[in-house]
Amino acid sequence: QPVLAVVGRPNVGKSTLVNRILGRREAVVQDVPGVTRDRVAYDALWNGRRFTVVDTGGWEPGASGLQGAVAAQAELAMATADAVLLVVDASVGATTTDEAVAKVLRRSKRPVLLAANKVDDNRLIPDVASLWSLGLGEPMPVSALHGRSSGDLLDAIVKALPEAPRDGERTAGPRRVALVGKPNVGKSSLLNKLTGEERSVVDSVAGTTVDPVDSLVELDGQTWRFVDTAGLRKRVHTASGTEYYASLRTKAAIDSAEVAIVLLDASEPLSEQDLRVLTMVVEAGRACVLAFNKWDLVDEDRRHQLERELDRGLVRVPWAQKVNISALTGRSVRKLAPALRTALESWDRRVSTGQLNSWLSELIAATPPPVRGGKQPKVLFATQAAIRPPTLVLFTTGFLEAGYRRFIERKFRERFGFEGSPVRINVRVRE
Ligand code: GDP
Repeated sequence: QPVLAVVGRPNVGKSTLVNRILGRREAVVQDVPGVTRDRVAYDALWNGRRFTVVDTGGWEPGASGLQGAVAAQAELAMATADAVLLVVDASVGATTTDEAVAKVLRRSKRPVLLAANKVDDNRLIPDVASLWSLGLGEPMPVSALHGRSSGDLLDAIVKALPEAPRDGERTAGPRRVALVGKPNVGKSSLLNKLTGEERSVVDSVAGTTVDPVDSLVELDGQTWRFVDTAGLRKRVHTASGTEYYASLRTKAAIDSAEVAIVLLDASEPLSEQDLRVLTMVVEAGRACVLAFNKWDLVDEDRRHQLERELDRGLVRVPWAQKVNISALTGRSVRKLAPALRTALESWDRRVSTGQLNSWLSELIAATPPPVRGGKQPKVLFATQAAIRPPTLVLFTTGFLEAGYRRFIERKFRERFGFEGSPVRINVRVRE
């Protein structure tokens, strides 16, 4: 979702105005000089448009004097946000600090809005007009305290912000499942098991039109659309030399699904081909359940061996759920539905910006990012920009190493879960 940064001198009423924008009073604590806030970013919603509000007052950049500090905030705001709101105190007028900040903001390639705050009564309107001198366009009179014109300000804000990128498509109807795995792992056997026993139920689902290549399957009281199963249903076993086409088909099935059941053969060592399929699912950003098939062939020795293989083989997907099944006997096949549901819940899930930042600022205070080139990168704030798959964006002042990003993901999962879904972490570094 798009980001609005709020900039201004201390005491112009930034926090009160941010509270107005958020529509709730308790969100932001008042400015206390010298006290770093644990949170600077919040979710806002106006006319159905979601955006993130960043109160730059919490950033406390350097000890370069007030003017330098506010100008530095403006620099960061311009580099990270999609639009900037400069708040000035209309009852005081433009100070030299305001002018210095305006000068920085005039270079911004992104939209800049100017709010003239503390216009508690109409006698201050002439003073508002004098703020045209800041060269940032029309000053908008507001009273954060009394709520004056906050609707107009919010209209202007959402107009200035880009439309949020749409979350991954979620068409109506049954959730879409891809059943994938290397040849002979038991895909058609499993599909037959799943449809065979439930066929009558599936066919009686009213008003459903089934794409001839998909199968509707009822599992655990819920209908699922298994995508691109034509080849599996007919048990068309591809001749040699067509592995390339099989892999294209797997890719297409994964792309058109929301969650994948990756079928693995528990009776054999994990193979390169298995990992390729798994990588396809993760890179496509799909939720995923690992199903270890042919469990009827697994004895004690094999089970221990398999555990060791998995420790090494599945390091990339420690978050994936594992279900041990037998398509032949039907063992534990009914455990697939709850696992699919859990994975999709994670895939659909959104953590609020407030929660995310209070967790993240604590984590980073305890374990700051490694220094690079003599500089300590700072993480300014984060938002969850998307779901399906969950995608975090960290706004930073420097590059974060892959190892540190993995550390953040690991800690994020410890705190918030997200079992069964990949989580993407993008870093936006200020230029
Ligand atoms: P696909 O290529 O992935 O569709 O695999 P198939 O469903 O055609 O299965 C390949 C072979 O594995 C067949 O001979 C199946 O009977 C056998 N098979 C599938 N699932 C199981 C299972 O759970 N246990 C055992 N023992 N054999 C299985």
